[in-house]
Amino acid sequence: MREMQTPRSYWLQEALAADTDIAPSLEGRVKAEVCIVGGGFTGLWTAIRLKEAEPALDIVLVERDVCGGGASGRNGGFVLSLWAKFLKLEHLCGTAEALRLAEASAEAVAEIGEFCQAHQIDAGYRRDGWLWAATSRMQVGAWTETVERIEQQGKSPFVAWTPEEVAHRSGSPVHLAGVFEPTAAQVQPAKLARGLRRVAVERGVRLFENTPLVRLVRSTPPVVHTPRGQVEAKKVVLAMNAWGIREPEIRQAVLVMASDMVITEPVTEFLEQSGWSDGLLISDARRLVHYYRTTVSGRIAFGKGGIPTFAFAGRVGPAFDGRSRMAGQVEAWLKWTYPPLRNVPCPVNWTGPIDRSKDGLPIFGRLSGRPDLLFGVGYSGNGVGPSVLGGRILASLVLEKKDEWSGCGLVRPLRRTFPPEPFRYLGSHIVRKAVALKDQAEDAGRKPNALVERIAALAPAGLSPTKSPKP
Ligand SMILES: Cc1cc2nc3c(=O)[nH]c(=O)nc-3n(C[C@H](O)[C@H](O)[C@H](O)COP(=O)(O)OP(=O)(O)OC[C@H]3O[C@@H](n4cnc5c(N)ncnc54)[C@H](O)[C@@H]3O)c2cc1C
Repeated sequence: MREMQTPRSYWLQEALAADTDIAPSLEGRVKAEVCIVGGGFTGLWTAIRLKEAEPALDIVLVERDVCGGGASGRNGGFVLSLWAKFLKLEHLCGTAEALRLAEASAEAVAEIGEFCQAHQIDAGYRRDGWLWAATSRMQVGAWTETVERIEQQGKSPFVAWTPEEVAHRSGSPVHLAGVFEPTAAQVQPAKLARGLRRVAVERGVRLFENTPLVRLVRSTPPVVHTPRGQVEAKKVVLAMNAWGIREPEIRQAVLVMASDMVITEPVTEFLEQSGWSDGLLISDARRLVHYYRTTVSGRIAFGKGGIPTFAFAGRVGPAFDGRSRMAGQVEAWLKWTYPPLRNVPCPVNWTGPIDRSKDGLPIFGRLSGRPDLLFGVGYSGNGVGPSVLGGRILASLVLEKKDEWSGCGLVRPLRRTFPPEPFRYLGSHIVRKAVALKDQAEDAGRKPNALVERIAALAPAGLSPTKSPKP
């Protein structure tokens, strides 16, 4: 196996223990019809969809690390629909299109399971749903507006649970209330990424790992420069997630924050006794969201979003890779949620970047309007399921099809929604501080002061809506 560039998440270590196939890095100049930059879910689904549509299409994929080395191999493995983001979707593209996209995103959850089965990808796919919970009185009802609006449209993706059911099924009385979305599934995300990589290679995608784009030359045709080679391609797809902020247009529309995870030793007995004995996904309704799940080996993986690491001036630096600097804090929250586990060690932790768009929805399109430079970015912590749609959208854009994907509401220009440096970096810290103060006040059962509320409301949308003051 070639030398790895970044320390691994628990998931990726586990996946690579069974899959040591690493592609060579690029040496010299190659030509291709399509060059995809980034071997996460977005890049890999795009490659697979393109090969489905046009098997002879010559596709090169370059990945700076190994496929799955980015967020796709480090995330919580929550495979969620976009129903929780329905209000933002509706605001963006109208009721009918929002309904269509939300339904397509729910179908994508099922599709991942079917794809794994069809291609023997052992990614631990399990569909036991998602609990959108409140762990403080102030969080209760964060979902109400969303659920009611969807129900007005005649749809019911969420099921109301009684407080007793919420506490029992989640295995902890800190969960005071919640709604359940049965559609959601869990995966071991790195195994899914590595499985998609295998299918892409089987379909003839030319893959180069340990091959970072170091410069994108916007000539016609565009050229992707790597340390020891170049790819000249008719179309380039930037599927680089947070790392895409190296391009100025992406930088102005996306803010990068860290999300951090820890994982326990096996706690099978606790899970069986607690009531949380299945694959139920749980997240709470605080701004710096807590998200947690069980694993097939009986562990709990627990994550916290929005940890104060911000990318400065387009650089997603080493602070976003490897071990979490906030592991102690994340572990303390896990133990606050599940007090009987206070003496259980969490041997592994890691961090990764989240690409937050202002409205929390991904953005797809043509970079500076160029039909030969495409991008997909901004999943805002919900990309495992929606990247299936991302693959369809980017494939349609590459093939210049005029269809429901290339014309969908998530295809839109990159607008400046965040200020330039240094205001952006400083502003991020102020907003993050306000968000933390708001969470702290709400945990203590207090309403945050009005200034804190106002500043916290400036934060980009996250995994699911939180309770905010009306503007
Ligand atoms: C800790 C954490 C927890 C999360 N939990 C969840 C969750 O439970 N559910 C959910 O839906 N979403 C979650 N997310 C978000 C989710 O992981 C992403 O939205 C999703 O993986 C996006 O896929 P992607 O392919 O766009 O990005 P990535 O998987 O990050 O792929 C981008 C790829 O580009 C590569 N790259 C970067 N720079 C270059 C370069 N210069 N040249 C070549 N390649 C480059 C990277 O190495 C990476 O492999 C989480 C994210 C993190 C960090």
